Amino acid sequence: MTIDRLLASSGLPRTDARALLEALTGRSREWLAAHGEEAVAPDVHTAFEALAERRRRGEPLAYLLGWREFRGRRFDVGPAVLVPRPETEELVDAALERLREVPAPRLLDLGTGSGVIAISLALERPDAEVTATDACGQALAVASANASRLWAQGVRFLVGDWWQAVPADQAPLHLIATNPPYIAEADPHLNDPALRCEPRQALASGKDGLDAIRRIVAGAPPRLLPGGWLLIEHGHDQGPAVAELLGQAGFEAVATLRDHAGLPRIGVGRKRFDGPSGTA
Ligand code: GLN
Repeated sequence: MTIDRLLASSGLPRTDARALLEALTGRSREWLAAHGEEAVAPDVHTAFEALAERRRRGEPLAYLLGWREFRGRRFDVGPAVLVPRPETEELVDAALERLREVPAPRLLDLGTGSGVIAISLALERPDAEVTATDACGQALAVASANASRLWAQGVRFLVGDWWQAVPADQAPLHLIATNPPYIAEADPHLNDPALRCEPRQALASGKDGLDAIRRIVAGAPPRLLPGGWLLIEHGHDQGPAVAELLGQAGFEAVATLRDHAGLPRIGVGRKRFDGPSGTA
């Protein structure tokens, strides 16, 4: 079996098949393309077939490879964490934009999973002090290993459910960015082959998908500095609901940002500079 024939006969999109073969051989895409007529070693062939079968059944490519790229960096991922999505890269962009004029910002990523938000912020703002939380210890192990491997200095990882993870004496924050679970518990999409492989705890949150977001919004004002930002990734149909929650909690400059696909995806609000403290 040659490289070209193996790739063509896998029943997978070519990019997926190639990524699996790159991982198994340690060869680059260019090398594989230039050596398509060469025979594949039998052990590589066997391993490839096993991974291709898992992929055909819907397991995310990122779990099979053990990593996913996010903002140009490679993050290790496994079944304890959600596979990072491109939408979340835009959440990081939106956060960085709001921090442009803020020296040495204090930042928080609630429910960090593989750590993509916290670690990207720490690397792109080396002057920041970043805290990342997760209710799942295994997820935090993945995140802190990613932080070490990517040389992200100064990220503090804390275990606990949403605000329970954040110590009472936490200095007030300049910005909170979070990609919480936001799918409704009964949403049939949760049975899609790919989502079925991901941790339910990172995907679904209550009847309308908004349980975690309600807790996050309610607890944020007392943790933020006046003028501090809260940015929340949400479902494409949750824009109005999230904006309403932010407004009810006393946030100003409330807006809904769209993702690359044009879907409403990120709720933002700023804590008032004056007036009621907005504590919830
Ligand atoms: N964006 C993911 C999906 O719909 C969900 C991620 C999340 O719940 N935070 O597949």
